[in-house]
Amino acid sequence: MFNRAEYVSDNEWNRFLEVSKGFQTPNIFINLRNIKQHFIQLKDSFPYAHVYYAVKANPGVPVIKMLDELGSNFDIASRYELDDVLSLGISPDRISFGNTIKKASDVKYFYEKGVRMFATDSKEDLKNIAKEAPGSRVFVRILVENSSTADWPLSRKFGCHPDMAYDLLVWARDNGLTPYGISFHVGSQQRDIGQWNDAIAKTKYLFESLEEEEGIKLSMINMGGGFPAHYIQPSNELQDYASEIARYLQDDFGDDIPMIVLEPGRSLVGDSGILTSEVVLISRKNNTALQRWVYLDTGKFNGLIETLDESIKYPVITTKDGGKEGEVILAGPTCDSADIMYENIKYKLPVDLKIGDKVYWLSTGAYTSSYASVGFNGFPPIKPYYITEDGVKDEDDNPVEPNA
Ligand SMILES: *Cc1c(COP(=O)(O)O)cnc(C)c1O
Repeated sequence: MFNRAEYVSDNEWNRFLEVSKGFQTPNIFINLRNIKQHFIQLKDSFPYAHVYYAVKANPGVPVIKMLDELGSNFDIASRYELDDVLSLGISPDRISFGNTIKKASDVKYFYEKGVRMFATDSKEDLKNIAKEAPGSRVFVRILVENSSTADWPLSRKFGCHPDMAYDLLVWARDNGLTPYGISFHVGSQQRDIGQWNDAIAKTKYLFESLEEEEGIKLSMINMGGGFPAHYIQPSNELQDYASEIARYLQDDFGDDIPMIVLEPGRSLVGDSGILTSEVVLISRKNNTALQRWVYLDTGKFNGLIETLDESIKYPVITTKDGGKEGEVILAGPTCDSADIMYENIKYKLPVDLKIGDKVYWLSTGAYTSSYASVGFNGFPPIKPYYITEDGVKDEDDNPVEPNA
């Protein structure tokens, strides 16, 4: 159904086949070289931007270490992520606390560890920051519309109206904080580049009005993530995003462009992963049914949560590709009827697919292992492995041998 070479180069595929031999399924192999290429491409496309990797997309230690060496900063969402990143020797001045939903005790913890950059979108949270993290730089996340063109929208839950952002930044200044900037996230896997235009225009309005009316000069725009990984649904190339966004910035800010922060997650790590699952059962619901149900040894609760509402459409291939195909419903192994990945979207798999065959999910480097349940139905969380320049490592960066 899908042309593997469109998603994974021959080189990467052959390396994957070589190192993944003998590992129990389900598993995910992440190719670090692929992430490195995406990081370099991002820096080339946005040479003026400061990159804060959104750790939640793939928190594996090998990924963090490599991005650290490449000069990335880190956007952190919880004290647990913070501990992990700090334990690698990454300095707290390269970390921002990007989650607007946090306890006062979390703010205190981050402050004690040396973090001085906080996102907010509400008065209550801002009060906590003023109390527990005095003097820190705060940026306010504004609401942007994005639900229809982002495959994994992040609107509504985060951000506030620009008028409220204005008030929060004034309050921040009056209460011992440094009003630093504006952030937004146009929605993950955002296929409409124009969404950045609207968000940048709202930001410009805030920069201008705060300076004119309050004498507050903001320094930074945090443009979040939203850049695409390579799934079935076509999206523009990163270079197209970069050139359009540069133009929006130029139109609104002219020669006085503030510091620009990007927080990529999916676009950096998404294409690097290959998830391997095995066919547990193939059945039909009646004797003349045309569709086969193909049950795999992993599903929504174990790496494939972004198939919720069939939102993210991964390319799926098998070892039997090339011959006749028929429609399938793809489902996971748990005793929950929500554990169906694709039913409305008609995936086609080879008619001679058998129990025990491998089914590969491409572009599964982002939001897969980090989202797996701790063990619903007793299934252990899917294991990520990292293909590095010095062999295969686990998520804690320890070398691994193929399992028995
Ligand atoms: C999840 C998240 C990101 C990463 O978004 P992608 O679309 O995966 O690049 C960036 N910033 C914030 C605040 C996030 O919550």
